[in-house]
Amino acid sequence: MKRVTLFGATGSVGQSAIDLIARDLDAYDVVALTGGRNLVQLATDAVRLRADLAVTCYPECYDALKQLLAGTGVAVAAGPDAIAEAAARPVDWALSAIIGAAGLVPGLVALEHGTTLALANKESLVTAGPLLMAKAQSHGATVLPVDSEHSAVFQALVGEDMAAVERVIITASGGAFRDWPVAKLAKATLAEASCHPNWNMGQRITIDSASMFNKGMELIETKEFFGVDPDMIEVLVHRESLIHALVGFNDGALMAHVGPPDMRHAIGYALHWPDRRALPVERLDLAKIGALTFEAPDQSRYPALALAQRVMQTGGLAGAVFNAAKERALDGFIAGQIGFMDMSRIVEATLDTMTASAGLQNVPITLDTVLQTDRLARIRAAEAISQLG
Ligand code: NAD
Ligand code: MG
Repeated sequence: MKRVTLFGATGSVGQSAIDLIARDLDAYDVVALTGGRNLVQLATDAVRLRADLAVTCYPECYDALKQLLAGTGVAVAAGPDAIAEAAARPVDWALSAIIGAAGLVPGLVALEHGTTLALANKESLVTAGPLLMAKAQSHGATVLPVDSEHSAVFQALVGEDMAAVERVIITASGGAFRDWPVAKLAKATLAEASCHPNWNMGQRITIDSASMFNKGMELIETKEFFGVDPDMIEVLVHRESLIHALVGFNDGALMAHVGPPDMRHAIGYALHWPDRRALPVERLDLAKIGALTFEAPDQSRYPALALAQRVMQTGGLAGAVFNAAKERALDGFIAGQIGFMDMSRIVEATLDTMTASAGLQNVPITLDTVLQTDRLARIRAAEAISQLG
């Protein structure tokens, strides 16, 4: 039996993982599930998956979760420390599907214990990529990509020599506003930004797809995970979301990964890796699909892409600033404090301020420096938001 823990089990990615695990329960020993305020979901899944432990990240939710799980035999805990403690429990495979920088610590703890970490939480790589990858290496642990583009690149690289790789192309649907006039974007509402044309995902990543902050994060994620030069990574708008990434080799070949837009493919690939097993995802009928389209991204529509390029060139703690400022700006957009296009302005202003004052390139990347930078960048981003108003 494979011992597994799912961080962020109640979210969009977590639920897709549960769908796969629940189909073959006898193959898994579920150690811990973690979630947030969706306590009924967390408790129901913990009982259904016969988990040892259920953890909510909110201490104030402890009593309610305890009550929901009374008499079931599932242990209950609450708070960020409890999630980190859950990460120290021995398992063979852990899914990191918490949203935001909160995913970093449990991922690092799991790696310290030699756990194979299936990483959906892109914020870990954006904020602290070198730290995370070094932690995996020093503890003999494996990190497997779960973001669909990175799983696609990973699969295209099986059996290949990295020295033969010339470029890595990650695709983007273009998000909710791909056909809007750029001038109208400033007025985009929360409801309009929360609909994705192809993927069904959590609200935050859906809005990040409309702004392409998500793709910007994925550029950085590509650099950190595969260790490729920023100049080798490209974004290609591909409306159909069927090709997830392409790898270009020095003989001119491009290896493309094609599949339905269903996260259960990338999760399932990581769950069964290094094997490939049958998965309950749609089989594409390419004759019916007929045509696939490709466009270069419009930089004026998606300023997040240039900001991500800048972050990759700067290196060091710039990723931690980028992510924290983006999270704070997204909070501001969701709360109606700022407009849609203001999000990139806030991130740019925060990068400007902190590059000038904090020496982002020269400070070593440790958990402390990352968390400190994250806190400071949120403060600077909040200041930038209040200056806008
Ligand atoms: P989601 O919002 O649907 O779920 C997030 C999960 O994290 C929930 O279980 C929630 O309870 C938990 N959580 C939220 N705040 C937390 C905190 N402070 N501490 C601990 N747990 C917390 O998010 P999602 O769309 O499933 O995305 C999860 C991660 O996977 C993100 O990093 C996202 O970028 C990445 N990702 C998602 C998709 C997708 O299809 N949704 C695709 C690729 C990558
Ligand atoms: Mg993705």
